[in-house]
Amino acid sequence: MPGILLFLWATYASMICKLVTDAEAKTACLMTYFAGHILRHWGIFTPTNHRPWIMRAPWFYETLNQCYREYGLQNVGPVTMRKHRKIQEMARLRDITLPVDLLSGDACQAVWVCIHHKELHKDHRDLNWLITHQALPVRTRRYREGQLGLPSCPWPKCHGATETIEHLLWLCTCAKEVWKRVKQIRKVVTSVS
Ligand SMILES: [Zn+2]
Repeated sequence: MPGILLFLWATYASMICKLVTDAEAKTACLMTYFAGHILRHWGIFTPTNHRPWIMRAPWFYETLNQCYREYGLQNVGPVTMRKHRKIQEMARLRDITLPVDLLSGDACQAVWVCIHHKELHKDHRDLNWLITHQALPVRTRRYREGQLGLPSCPWPKCHGATETIEHLLWLCTCAKEVWKRVKQIRKVVTSVS
């Protein structure tokens, strides 16, 4: 899931947990009443007999459970759940790298590091992501989705070759010309051929 959703959810969940566990908070009883059933399962607070709560929480508390399961935060404890930064850290630590065909686990991790390299501009990182997930809207893809009548490259020198991601970036006559010029510029700037 994108970071923004994790951020929003972590901020919301930590605020609820703080309000429920803070003895000084005037809203603690109210929050316990509505969200107590959910937070009891999380181990955030221990129920007592003299405090009522409802078994079916309103939807805006039920959503807490969805993300809790989604991010695999079971048994992280109240200390973590009271701080949104700690929740985000924990959720990121539990992220797993998806395997890629023909790559070992370490090589796979190295590829992902290069794709999201911190020195790359955000647009370039986004482009890398689209390429890796085969989601770049090249003509083959748009043709498959019914947006175009033909999947072929529009450059005359390509003689109607199918425009795949590989073609767009490396095999297209236009791309080859661009790479040739990039090589010349790099040679001038860095003196590396
Ligand atoms: Zn082409």
